[in-house]
Amino acid sequence: MDSETGDLAFLPLGGTGEIGMNLNLYRCDGKWLAVDCGIGFGGAAHPEVDVMMPDPGYIADRRDRLLGLVITHAHEDHIGAVAWLWPQLRCPVYATPFAATVLRRKLAEVQLLNQVKLHVVPPGGAIDLAPFNLQFLRVTHSIPEAQALVIDTPHGLLLHTGDWKLDPHPLIGPPTDEAAFAALGERGVLAMIGDSTNAMVEGHSGSEAEVRQSLTALLRGLRGRIAVTCFASNVARVESAAHAAHAAGRSVALVGRSLRNLDAAARECGYLRDLPPFLTEDDVDDVPDDNLLMLVTGSQGEPNSALARIAMDTHPRVVLGEGDTVLFSSRVIPGNERAIGTVQDNLVRRGVNLMTDVDHLVHVSGHPARDELRRMYRLVRPRYAVPTHGEWRHLSAHAALAQEAGAKPILLEDGDILNLAPGQVQVTDSAPVGKLVLDGNRLTPLGGGVMTARRRMLFNGIVLASIAVDANGRLRGDPRVSAPGLFDSGDPELGRVSGEFADAIDDLPATLRRDDASFADAARAALRRALGRRLQKRPLVDVHLLRV
Ligand SMILES: [Zn+2]
Ligand SMILES: [Zn+2]
Repeated sequence: MDSETGDLAFLPLGGTGEIGMNLNLYRCDGKWLAVDCGIGFGGAAHPEVDVMMPDPGYIADRRDRLLGLVITHAHEDHIGAVAWLWPQLRCPVYATPFAATVLRRKLAEVQLLNQVKLHVVPPGGAIDLAPFNLQFLRVTHSIPEAQALVIDTPHGLLLHTGDWKLDPHPLIGPPTDEAAFAALGERGVLAMIGDSTNAMVEGHSGSEAEVRQSLTALLRGLRGRIAVTCFASNVARVESAAHAAHAAGRSVALVGRSLRNLDAAARECGYLRDLPPFLTEDDVDDVPDDNLLMLVTGSQGEPNSALARIAMDTHPRVVLGEGDTVLFSSRVIPGNERAIGTVQDNLVRRGVNLMTDVDHLVHVSGHPARDELRRMYRLVRPRYAVPTHGEWRHLSAHAALAQEAGAKPILLEDGDILNLAPGQVQVTDSAPVGKLVLDGNRLTPLGGGVMTARRRMLFNGIVLASIAVDANGRLRGDPRVSAPGLFDSGDPELGRVSGEFADAIDDLPATLRRDDASFADAARAALRRALGRRLQKRPLVDVHLLRV
């Protein structure tokens, strides 16, 4: 039961207890506010899944009281599910100019651009959604215009940090507005809810300015073609690579769709203005190797990315080989180790020289390491700390640090409803949570029948049999059995399965054969037995029964 009035609560539906898929809810006096709406990837844990997102069912049921969705920044784990889930939410959306530009492209792709009320809020701007009084605070992150969100309510003042770091020289956008955070601390913050990604990393995340210097020095010493791969949304890094390239007498070409899209969005919002327009992949053969730098998508080893195809020598335009260099200006996101390793292996096999953050200063994280977290707790001095945006080990490291910094930590996971006021700050209730899988252009529950069948097919294969029977249930002709992924179509073993299956059907009692449903059940069981003896595994089995 929702309390109707007089309370303040926090409920993460995604992103707490996992990395990605952020969807946070706040409830005040019976009204709801959503913060971020992002996707995650299946990775090693769900190889049958490409993209997934939190199930918004709980808030969809209450959408008449959902005042709005605020987007803190344009990373996929914060913005990527809006276009897919908005039809269930149907509330106004608030975002900075850059995030709004990125979002508009996504909404246009699914024909929602004219339906979604998208309010553009300047960085540092205010949003009045009474009883929520909202204020953006500028933070540095690995994308332009990241914002923390101050949530002022009649029952207390909250800070939702979003993703952030401290960098005195972020190179794009102003540094994190520390004075504003200190001023907030003066007002008395009830709870700080936020980023745990790097809570296990000692020290400081480092500055983009150091990366730019390092890239500039590294590129000067290289001959041959250079490809740099980084996240397309890291506009400061794109600019750093371009500056370093120009200093080394190289022109810059963009290779890959997401880089071209982000470049267009960035320039539309006034970023990258000092740089000449980038060349395209069609231009690269017109530039001498020693004068070329390509920015390429695929830093996480995505199999269809430009870099993966270049590494396989199947890219239509770009070839790399002996003496060329590929520089990974990125980190390995956990779960992607093997995919990245495959791409790197393929490159090295072609004689390409690799540079990564393991042996060179070519990347800094966009998330706060422990020194930055400590500094933020000193500025904001919240009474309670609610770690989000992390897996359990990140959340609990964040909680321990918060405690040392003088805040009372509260560990939650997706679906916990945390009462913040009045009375005890504690988990008082829970909401149903789940994941939806984006399968092609449809959403289907991760735990539902379709995806369960998909997993089974992926690991155990599928066997389909068709049988034609007469009115009395006697077989007419031989069963047709196919088992793609288990037997080649001409495999004699498949013929033997089919024969045993036919014998088993002949042995079924006559009473059972008259009812289609029980006949099909018995036939499936017979087929499973015939397969089980040979395969030692349990494929997905189905029998089509046709009365002729
Ligand atoms: Zn982010
Ligand atoms: Zn994030």
